[in-house]
Amino acid sequence: MNTNELITERRNQEWRETLRKSRSAKERSAIERVKMPELDPSYRITSLTEEVNTGLTEEQALLEATRCLDCAKPTCMEGCPVGIHIPSFVKEIERGRFAEAATILRETSSLPAVCGRVCPQERQCESKCIYHSMKKEPVAIGYLERFAADWERVNGTMKVPELQPRNGKKVAVVGSGPAGLSFAGDMAKLGYEVVVFEALHEIGGVLKYGIPEYRLPNEVVDAEIELLHRMGVSFETNTIVGATLSYDDIHDMGFSGLFVGSGAGLPNFMGIKGENLVGVMSSNEYLTRVNLMNAGAEDSETPVFRGRSVAVIGGGNTAMDSVRTAKRLGAERAMIVYRRSEEEMPARIEEIAHAKEEGVEFLTLHNPVEYLSNERGRVRSMLLQKMELGEPDASGRRKPVAIEGAIEEVPVDVVIVSIGVSPNPLVPNAFKGLNVSSKGTIVVNENNATDLPDVYAGGDIVRGGATVILAMGDGRKAASSMHEYLSRLS
Ligand code: FAD
Ligand code: SF4
Repeated sequence: MNTNELITERRNQEWRETLRKSRSAKERSAIERVKMPELDPSYRITSLTEEVNTGLTEEQALLEATRCLDCAKPTCMEGCPVGIHIPSFVKEIERGRFAEAATILRETSSLPAVCGRVCPQERQCESKCIYHSMKKEPVAIGYLERFAADWERVNGTMKVPELQPRNGKKVAVVGSGPAGLSFAGDMAKLGYEVVVFEALHEIGGVLKYGIPEYRLPNEVVDAEIELLHRMGVSFETNTIVGATLSYDDIHDMGFSGLFVGSGAGLPNFMGIKGENLVGVMSSNEYLTRVNLMNAGAEDSETPVFRGRSVAVIGGGNTAMDSVRTAKRLGAERAMIVYRRSEEEMPARIEEIAHAKEEGVEFLTLHNPVEYLSNERGRVRSMLLQKMELGEPDASGRRKPVAIEGAIEEVPVDVVIVSIGVSPNPLVPNAFKGLNVSSKGTIVVNENNATDLPDVYAGGDIVRGGATVILAMGDGRKAASSMHEYLSRLS
């Protein structure tokens, strides 16, 4: 049965028809969209680890699921990069079958509790919900996804999926971010012995070293990793492929296929004067040290500069995570400096709203041009160029243009540069024969295959900085393509 037939069959199930008819569309659409319960801003800025969004209660989830009209043509699904069967899992929630809802999510998404928290749903599935055409708020698909996945974890119903018998073949994975984890899970299901090599001492990629716990708790990621362990996947941490292990070493170890999900962990800088002063650092350094090395703790042996007046340069999710972390580490003034207006900010709307509630200042239409130092070589202030919006540029966003002579000096003692990332060059440089783009990304075909026949790649190393769901989707696609390739060889 293909996907469309399965979706139709599910929609035509007797219970589903009965449920659909139990309330009119008018009644359903009269229900107001649920509000995500969250910790009070004055309390939450005291904790780096307590999750801000506390999750829907069962009553809230049941009511929100009731809003969904179970459309014959569910346009929401068109907005989901991995094609989650959205109305099917939502209707399982409406009838109180939470474990079944989670099972449906897992058919297409290997990390539903993660995606339910961090996906930009407002630009994906929810942006396509039919409610928009009625001038109403969309169904809270992301909150419901998180609800079902959390229910499964908390109630201990996360099951090891059906695994095919071992086929005697070994495959290696470089990197344990969402791309690598989803590839590993799918290959384990297909009967392969899977070993994931990770450069850091922790497994999870950006999910652990980048996104802070107050947004994505480690226990959520660890539950997924534990499931992979139970499926037989093994992990080798502190192993840098391209340095500790070469391409030849991996073949000598008996691996017949290799998936590269090494991400984009190389920070970009602006190249302006003063960027090398003490107190100026990248978001990557700042977040990794706080999240993985406990550098925000009072008794840390390698503490990070806490800063009383902290400026974060950029307007993406990484910038929001950094500025909200700075607030939690006691900054009296925590600022976002962004050269466009708020409308153009790439960060999720929820993250921007949360940052504002937590007292973050937004200096939009400002661009740093220089950092000035005190007598000890430490940053003391930044010179900001005021901007205005001009014509749209190649990205379709209105281009920021400098207002001549409009420069102001703002005192700062920490600057965190968060203007994007580039692919880690290690694997692209170490594997001879890989086709690498001018931006340093690995070039793949529509099956995520590289120019080396046994090497596949996906996630940020292919896309540059993208999203968790796209990385996860790449890992899954690469698994199915590599399986096809290796099956043909034997
Ligand atoms: P990564 O998650 O980067 O994982 C790559 C892994 O490979 C890392 O663990 C790295 O240590 C390892 N590695 C690298 N080189 C080697 C090597 N040579 N040998 C062995 N291991 C290696 N996306 C969203 O959808 N929503 C969000 O809210 C969001 N917020 C974000 C916040 C921050 C702070 C950051 C940095 C990113 C955010 N993103 C968000 C983007 C998202 O996290 C990434 O697109 C996604 O994690 C990419 O997954 P990946 O598996 O390709 O790479
Ligand atoms: Fe439900 Fe909205 Fe999807 Fe229709 S478009 S099935 S109302 S979530």
